[in-house]
Amino acid sequence: MSRHELSTEHADLRAAVEEFARTEVAPVIGDFYERGAFPYEIVAKMGRMGLFGLPFPEEHGGMGGDYFALCLALEELARVDSSVAITLEAGVSLGAMPIYRFGTDEQRKAHLPRLTSGEALGAFGLTEPGGGSDAGATRTTARLEGGEWVINGTKSFITNSGTDITSLVTVTAVTGRREDGRPEISSILVPKGTPGFSVGQKYSKVGWNASDTNELVFEDCRVPEANLVGERGRGYAQFLRILDEGRIAIAALSVGLAQGCVDESVRYAHERHAFGHPIGHYQAIQFKIAEMESRVHGARLAYYDAASRMLAGEPFKKEAAIAKLLASNAAMDNARDATQVFGGYGFMNDYPVGRFYRDAKILEVGEGTSEVQKMLIARELGLPA
Ligand SMILES: Cc1cc2nc3c(=O)[nH]c(=O)nc-3n(C[C@H](O)[C@H](O)[C@H](O)COP(=O)(O)OP(=O)(O)OC[C@H]3O[C@@H](n4cnc5c(N)ncnc54)[C@H](O)[C@@H]3O)c2cc1C
Repeated sequence: MSRHELSTEHADLRAAVEEFARTEVAPVIGDFYERGAFPYEIVAKMGRMGLFGLPFPEEHGGMGGDYFALCLALEELARVDSSVAITLEAGVSLGAMPIYRFGTDEQRKAHLPRLTSGEALGAFGLTEPGGGSDAGATRTTARLEGGEWVINGTKSFITNSGTDITSLVTVTAVTGRREDGRPEISSILVPKGTPGFSVGQKYSKVGWNASDTNELVFEDCRVPEANLVGERGRGYAQFLRILDEGRIAIAALSVGLAQGCVDESVRYAHERHAFGHPIGHYQAIQFKIAEMESRVHGARLAYYDAASRMLAGEPFKKEAAIAKLLASNAAMDNARDATQVFGGYGFMNDYPVGRFYRDAKILEVGEGTSEVQKMLIARELGLPA
C-alpha cells in the first residue's frame, strides 16, 4: 500500500479532508489556539463529514471505512493543525473504539451512534498521577457492591474528557487480585454526570491548546455492573490492543505535522529574501528542506506499512511502534528546522510553524513515549522484558 496505490475511496477522502483543513480549519484555528478554546463548530463540521465514523460499520452509524482511512484524515488535518487532529484521534481511537471492539451489544447501541456521528465525544482514562508508561500499576479501584461498581481514583491528562459534548469516559481500574498476586485490571464505562465523577483541573499546556485535556476524579462513583467493558480482568489486554492501533494513528498525525512543516518552509523559502535572493536560493535552506521531506517520506511509508499489516490481520505491534517512533522524531526534527527557516517569524504566533513547534513535543510522549516504543521493538526482537 504505497501512496500511488491509494484506492479511489481513500484518495477522495484524503482530498476532501485536505480541502476542509485548508479552507475551514487553517483560517480560524490560530485564534482558538491562542484563547485555549475548544473549536466546537469545527468539530461539528468534522462530524457532519463523517470523520468520527470512518472506521466503523454503518450499522453503528459509521462510514463503513477502515482504520487507514482514519489515518489519512488525521494526516491531512495535522498538516494544518494538531489540536483538531488529536480531538478526532482520541474521539475515535480512544473514545469509541474500546466500546466497538469490546463492548456489549447494549453498550454499542446506547453509545456508538452519537460517538460515530461526532455529536458526542468519548474519552479513555488510563494514565494516573503516579504514572502512564507503567500502566499496569493502576491505582484506581472499582469494587462490586450491590450490583454496582464503586470507583475511586484519579486519572491524569485525559483528552476530550471535559467538553460540553463529552458523553462518557472508559476507565481502567483494579477490580481484584489474580491468583499470582498481580492486580486484576478491568475497563468500566462511566457516563458524564454520574455522581462521584468530576472533571478536575484543566491543564495549562505547551501545545495542543485548542484540544481538551483534564484531570478526572472518581470518589465513590457508582455505575451499574453492566458498564464493565468486555471481560472482567481483560482491561490490560484491551488497552494494549487499543494503544497498538492508536500508535499508527499518532504516527499518521505526526507525519501530517511534519508535512505541514515542509509545506510552510517551501512557501517561505520562495517569499523571504536575504542578501539579494530568496532564501530558498541558498543550499543551507535547500538541504534543510530536503532532509525534512526525506523524514516525512520515510515516516509515511512506515505508517502505511503498519496500517496495511493491521488491515490484513497480520501482527503489527512492532511496525506500529516503529512508525510512531520514526514519525514523532520526524515531527520534532521538522518543527525545529521549519522554525529555523522562518527565522524570527518562526517564534511568532502569526505563522503556523510556531504552533507546529509547540505541538510536536507531545508526539514523543502521548500513547506511549519514545522509550516505550523502543522497549516494545526490543521485546518483539526477543530481548528480555
Ligand atoms: C496532552 C496529553 C494528552 C493525553 N491524553 C491521554 C488520554 O486521553 N488518556 C490517557 O490515558 N492518557 C493520556 N495522556 C497521557 C500520556 O499517554 C502519558 O503522559 C504517557 O504515556 C507517559 O506517561 P507519564 O506522563 O506518566 O510519564 P512516565 O511514565 O512517568 O515517564 C517519565 C519518563 O520516564 C520514561 N520511562 C518510564 N519507564 C521507563 C522504562 N522502563 N525504561 C526507560 N524509560 C522509562 C518515559 O519514557 C518518560 O521519558 C495524555 C498526555 C498528554 C500530555
